[in-house]
Amino acid sequence: MSRIAFIGLGNMGAPMALNLVRAGHELVVFDLMPQAIKTLTDAGAHAADSARAAVAGAEFVISMLPASQHVERLYLGNEGLLSVIQPGTLIIDCSTIAPETARKVAQAAQAAQLAMIDAPVSGGTGGAVAGTLTFIVGGQSADLDKARPLLEKMGKNIFHAGDAGAGQVAKICNNMLLGILMAGTAEALALGAANGLDPVVLSDIISKSSGRNWATELYNPWPGVMENAPASKGYAGGFGVDLMLKDLGLAAESALQSRASTPLGELARNLYSLHSSQGHGGLDFSSILNLYRKA
Ligand code: NAD
Repeated sequence: MSRIAFIGLGNMGAPMALNLVRAGHELVVFDLMPQAIKTLTDAGAHAADSARAAVAGAEFVISMLPASQHVERLYLGNEGLLSVIQPGTLIIDCSTIAPETARKVAQAAQAAQLAMIDAPVSGGTGGAVAGTLTFIVGGQSADLDKARPLLEKMGKNIFHAGDAGAGQVAKICNNMLLGILMAGTAEALALGAANGLDPVVLSDIISKSSGRNWATELYNPWPGVMENAPASKGYAGGFGVDLMLKDLGLAAESALQSRASTPLGELARNLYSLHSSQGHGGLDFSSILNLYRKA
């Protein structure tokens, strides 16, 4: 069993860390929010007072933070973790961040005789709880092989996308599509409801027809259609509008740099941006339905 430092215990990090504790690993955890730590200590993990204290003696460091700036601040600079993690440790960053940031931190890690992989995930909070996440990894094959036994306790599918940063590129492409599909699903359900259809019946029809997608199968945006979806829990928890907006921003930056054309991604980014600017940034991203739904 391994000694693991786990940093960032939010909607995703907490259930992921919990699966590692349940698999018998020794976890030392840290989050800026004390209430996030409690779930883990109740399950048998040890709490650290700081991220620097958490990584002392760790064989693996796993981070699950919101965005690029958080990952950069955690690892780089005079106060950054790279200056205190013991050589030979493998860092697994599961946050969704800019590919350039992933590469920058991986290079700095290598200079400090540490290995690092970017391992963003797909599958939502349901997948994190069930241990069925998809890991999309960028980095050296040997480092992925070392991480695999841990990733298998948190996920079902593990892909090697390429070198450092490649996991993030693939994840950004996936999430751009997810943002488009969720907005499209909300639009279609609202159109049906505005024309007298029952959203439950329409959802059933779409989920067995050619419009079916992850949102209609597992994460329906209409309240009451799926008991366990965030839509049926007041859009609490899940995947925040502002996190989706961040990912669509990463897609837009990647498109600009590579001169790729992403008109639907841009349109989706604008829709989530409008929704966030109306004060809904903290709700689950399926609440985009409220932009379309008649009062
Ligand atoms: P979240 O906001 O629920 O959790 C982030 C946690 O990180 C918070 O508890 C916060 O206190 C903590 N944190 C921030 N800075 C920290 C620091 N310096 N030290 C310690 N803790 C710190 O976010 P989430 O939904 O868990 O998402 C995390 C990442 O996973 C994001 O990059 C997101 O895009 C990605 N992701 C989320 C989902 C989802 O469904 N929620 C799915 C796939 C990927």
